[in-house]
Amino acid sequence: MTGSKSKEPWYLQLHGQVGIALLSGFLVGVCARLLAPHGFPTEAFGEGVGVVGDIFLRLLKMVIIPLIFTSLVCGVASLGDARSVGRVGLRTVLFYTLSTTLAILVGLTLVNVFAPGRYLDIGSSATLPEGLSSSSQSLSHFLLHMVPDNIVRAMGNGDVLPVIFFAILFGLFLVRINGPNVDTVHRVMEGALEVIQGLTLAIVKLAPIGIFALLTREVVRSGPELIMRLLPYFATVGGGLLIHAFVTLPLILVLLARRNPLEYFRAVLPAVATAFSTASSSATLPLSMECAEKEAKIPRGISSFVLPLGATVNMDGTALYEAVAALTIAQMYGVPLDLSQQALVLATALLASVGAAGIPMAGLVMMVVVLEAVGLPIEGIATIIAVDRVLDMMRTSTNVWSDLVGTAVIARFEGRSP
Ligand code: ASP
Repeated sequence: MTGSKSKEPWYLQLHGQVGIALLSGFLVGVCARLLAPHGFPTEAFGEGVGVVGDIFLRLLKMVIIPLIFTSLVCGVASLGDARSVGRVGLRTVLFYTLSTTLAILVGLTLVNVFAPGRYLDIGSSATLPEGLSSSSQSLSHFLLHMVPDNIVRAMGNGDVLPVIFFAILFGLFLVRINGPNVDTVHRVMEGALEVIQGLTLAIVKLAPIGIFALLTREVVRSGPELIMRLLPYFATVGGGLLIHAFVTLPLILVLLARRNPLEYFRAVLPAVATAFSTASSSATLPLSMECAEKEAKIPRGISSFVLPLGATVNMDGTALYEAVAALTIAQMYGVPLDLSQQALVLATALLASVGAAGIPMAGLVMMVVVLEAVGLPIEGIATIIAVDRVLDMMRTSTNVWSDLVGTAVIARFEGRSP
């Protein structure tokens, strides 16, 4: 990956190429749709191009678990002792809670002012996706499964949170226990990390191709008419996400991390763009880690800790969306929610965003938790589902951008800003 101060022309640098990929993916998708009435096989074209994107997605997923494990073990070991790890952990959790709460407040303000639910009808013909039932989601289940009963199974299933839990403990005991054998394990971990980082770097170079392919398919699949029908709701969530991403988070970056938001955004753009096209924080993690370390110069001890945790539990965009969607559904059913009920929405949206996995549509599934908390019918989800994919892309980029802002803030508080 090229450095942000590189002499290379912008279009040869990764963020320039990613920008071109976003624009051309969108344009090619629109052209394919326009050509459909003239006999162009638009659908087949979109799905065909999409396969290239799927390969990119699988490559990313391939490196997630080994990357999290080796970098977290080495990162925790480099922090030295349990007290430092605890301090970084506490700061991380505090920051994530703060930024997510701010996001929800922005969402609640907008949804109260614009009341998009007034424009929606109950009883859309859309059906609820499978697995969207009250029994399928529980927060205690989430907490329990943070502790793996079988680490190999957790890794095999790609369950990030239990792997994080085990890797932190492994890293802590790696520095606590002395001896030549343990030193060898430490060196093996460092070596494995170097190899997996090299591999990740090679995959990251493919990001522009992957982003182009995924975006083209997305535009071909979900045309603009879907968005039009739910425009007020779409604009409320989208507007909230934009305010949080381009006002709140940059302010935090300046005030708490003392970083230039424009420069920082440019350094991490490949990660944010990948989040947009994949709608998955987890799949974006390899890119986030590369950008944070190589481009934004965040020390590995910090980024390897803050980012995997963030990709799993810090979802500002998802939380904002949960709050807006819940209130929109309440407005649609003509059920006004008073201040205490809105406070309950805030709390459950926060918890639901922590519990949502970093995969596409996870936020939609967690809506059940929020709706049930305030006694709203979960069937309301069927109405807003039509625009979920596009909102998912937007909220995932906000989630990832917030993780990266958090990393800069924690690095500064730990006295390890570049
Ligand atoms: N897709 C989001 C993510 O991976 C989660 C969500 O659906 O809100 O961050």
